[in-house]
Amino acid sequence: MTERKNIAIVGAGLVGSLLSLYLAKRGHKIDLYERRPDQRQFAEDGGRSINLALSDRGWRALRGIGIEEEVRQVAVPMHGRMMHDDKGNLSFLPYGKEGQFIYSVSRAGLTVALVNLAEKKENVKLHFNRQLTHLDVRINELQLRNRDTEEVERIKPDILFGADGAYSAVRSEMHKRELYDYSQSYLEYGYKELTIPPAAGGGWQLDKNALHIWPRGNYMMIALPNIDGSFTCTLFFPHKGPLSFESIKTETQLFAFFQNSFADAILLMPDLAQEYFANPVGSLVTIKCFPWSFEGKAMLIGDAAHAVVPFYGQGMNAGFEDITVLDQMLDNFTGDWRDLFERFERKRKPDADAIADLAVLNFIEMRDKVADPRFLLRKKIEAKINEKYPHTWLPLYSMVTFSDLPYSYALETGRKQDEIMELVMPHIQAPEDFGKQEVQDLLHKLLQEEERLK
Ligand code: FAD
Repeated sequence: MTERKNIAIVGAGLVGSLLSLYLAKRGHKIDLYERRPDQRQFAEDGGRSINLALSDRGWRALRGIGIEEEVRQVAVPMHGRMMHDDKGNLSFLPYGKEGQFIYSVSRAGLTVALVNLAEKKENVKLHFNRQLTHLDVRINELQLRNRDTEEVERIKPDILFGADGAYSAVRSEMHKRELYDYSQSYLEYGYKELTIPPAAGGGWQLDKNALHIWPRGNYMMIALPNIDGSFTCTLFFPHKGPLSFESIKTETQLFAFFQNSFADAILLMPDLAQEYFANPVGSLVTIKCFPWSFEGKAMLIGDAAHAVVPFYGQGMNAGFEDITVLDQMLDNFTGDWRDLFERFERKRKPDADAIADLAVLNFIEMRDKVADPRFLLRKKIEAKINEKYPHTWLPLYSMVTFSDLPYSYALETGRKQDEIMELVMPHIQAPEDFGKQEVQDLLHKLLQEEERLK
């Protein structure tokens, strides 16, 4: 039994609120500080994406505190990608094998469910409207501005977790120390959220069990279903340039652009102009930093440690997996927090870097390649290889989404698979070609070589 600590968590977003439950389970006294008001007073979250793709890594962490079934009740399964071409034709690409789905969940709904659970714990105290404004990491002293009274509170917890997101104030203070590695890189694309409302008589206006994509080369729109019959669409579009957020200034320009690029979607978007001009443009950033901890006193977790662009739908899932990994380490904890934090960050950093890189690569795939028939053929062939060699070949998407294999392993294995597919695809013009003897022999040889290299 290790000593019970006073732990402060800054940020009651998805990761901070789930972390409070895991740490409370181990008997620590938790204070959870959140800059914003209590989200339970508001229906939805403006500006950021209002639904998220939840997959196996995220489910695993929710299962660990017994909330999996409750969340599943309000989650919409998405079986694959539904591509909308510029003529309105649809094609469907399953995400995995039969029975393998990702789920669309409400960001606000999930956060509220976690906060409700945290509130029920005797040893968790919630503090809303408290913004971390200053931190002295050497002595773990925090200054929090009470946004109701404008008073400043000072606290000195034993342990501090920074779960305060991509623009973390905890990380900014760590950053001021020597030997701190930090990088941030923005995509030249931003995003804007729009809505397809439910059908007049109720229900969904598009297939509800799919993630819809309108890939258009230089930009794209996606739509994820909500439980109320609506879809949240996200337009990923360059910030600047001839066709960009900057270039569309009037309703006429907006409708001309949508009519040209998303003709089947515009029919379903009665509030397009109002939403387009009212909703903010979000930015897309990758943040890498190291170390994540400071002298066994403070630790970053979730987006604060590793913000990734959203194209693999893994940011939250990766943050939740941080908690699963930390919790496993706490099973054999000796009481040495410095040792724990250093082992944790050494283990997670390569995986966080890998999912950051995979997310950028997937942007290119979603925006560009899913409209390419050769790419779709390759995906079909990969599914056949997986069927034939289930223990040797797991498609990259499945490793990331439907397994708990380390992200770094998935990235490396994906690169090897790319090399093999480069050699196999020239022999394939149609799915049936997979059965050809020359293809089978070549594949067998390449996989054997791969095994020998391991
Ligand atoms: P956040 O959710 O950012 O929460 C941080 C919390 O800290 C906030 O509540 C904030 O108010 C609070 N805070 C910040 N500063 C302070 C301060 N100084 N003092 C006190 N409190 C503070 N991930 C997926 O897994 N699947 C998806 O489909 C997906 N889609 C996405 C789509 C978009 C457009 C974007 C932008 C992201 C998407 N993500 C997705 C990523 C996901 O949103 C993040 O990874 C996730 O929200 C990280 O959770 P977090 O708790 O670490 O940070």
